[in-house]
Amino acid sequence: MATVNKAFRALASGYLFPEINRRVRFWQTNNPGKDVLRLGIGNTTEALPLALREAMIEKINELGDRETYTGYGDEQGDTYLREGLVEYYKKFGVELESSEVFVSDGAKSDAANIQAIFATDSIIAVTDPAYPVYVDSNVASGRSRGWDESRGMYHDLVYLSCTEENSFIPPLPSERVDLIYLCNPNNPTGAVMNHAQLKEFVEYARFHKSVIIYDSAYSEYITEEGYPHSIYEIEGAKECAIELSSFSKFSGFTGVRLGWTIVPNTLMCADSTKGELNRLWNRRQTTFFNGASNIAQRGGFAALSGEGHKQSRALVAYYLENARLIREGLEAKGLTVYGGVNSPYIWAKTPNGLDSWRFFDQLLDQCNVVVTPGGGFGPAGKNFIRVSAYNHRENVVIAMRMIQEHLTI
Ligand code: PLP
Repeated sequence: MATVNKAFRALASGYLFPEINRRVRFWQTNNPGKDVLRLGIGNTTEALPLALREAMIEKINELGDRETYTGYGDEQGDTYLREGLVEYYKKFGVELESSEVFVSDGAKSDAANIQAIFATDSIIAVTDPAYPVYVDSNVASGRSRGWDESRGMYHDLVYLSCTEENSFIPPLPSERVDLIYLCNPNNPTGAVMNHAQLKEFVEYARFHKSVIIYDSAYSEYITEEGYPHSIYEIEGAKECAIELSSFSKFSGFTGVRLGWTIVPNTLMCADSTKGELNRLWNRRQTTFFNGASNIAQRGGFAALSGEGHKQSRALVAYYLENARLIREGLEAKGLTVYGGVNSPYIWAKTPNGLDSWRFFDQLLDQCNVVVTPGGGFGPAGKNFIRVSAYNHRENVVIAMRMIQEHLTI
């Protein structure tokens, strides 16, 4: 007799973006012919850099010839890409072994799956607000008794509240936790932790034998000096941190799909032996995953250095210029805004303490602009919206003009 996995029932209704899409569709039905300006989801819009396309076309042509055709590759990724990533990290003063690098089809799946190598009764700390995958994957894996309606939070998870008062830098957990999810630069707030702030987390984790899951998907958006591009820039982090990252926002690979995860050989938790967590992730990946696309891997390799890296950086600069226009546009309208300097996301305070879903509806109704309600990322986001820089420049310009002309606050 089959029965459902009760942990999945513990998940609160609807993922954030399906609910946004539902509201947008409803609005479109009532407003036929009107164009929607989408500054909600973090989905890339600009063309793939030429050097990356050329690298992938070359691989496709190799696949078209039986002499150079390749089928399944290593589940952990092709050696040249793992070694390319080792070289890439040297720029930040980080030394890795290629056996510590696991190539994947993107950071979302790794962010969701990584918890599987830790005990089911692990206590999880997430920032509030947070990228929803960290929360939902742990709830679906049985680490919460379910949604607590009165607090707008899940039972049993520890929320590290990121507010205006702490400049959206998460405080250390006030109790012992086992896994801590950090995203730097942060989605959704756009805030960035500096070396000293991150060092406190590394020291906490080493003291409590906790593990930090560090998501650096937006590290290429760091434009200012003094911020770490990798957690391994912090001394001791290789003993207590796993790093996830992605080519999606760096090289426009949201649809191509490619990411990576670093599980150091020296990483330890309370009861692991040396190298065990690396071996367990290897075991998990070789069992559940058959490797990333060999075409995507060739493109990703091209993004790491030379012309491909330069072109990827230009793509990032384009979105950062959008972010600047959004930041300045919202500020000119009198809104309080954060982020958008080392990040493609602007975290804007709703006017007059408005709930984020109500402000979402207002922006859609008055300006035809879609944003993401901050409340969807956690209770600390309920008076904020996230505005994404991922759209064509001309749409960003129109969206800011619509807000300037039509938003009543
Ligand atoms: N991590 C963060 C913080 C993200 O914002 C995203 C995507 O928006 C991802 C991971 C997912 O990246 P990928 O496209 O590599 O799955």
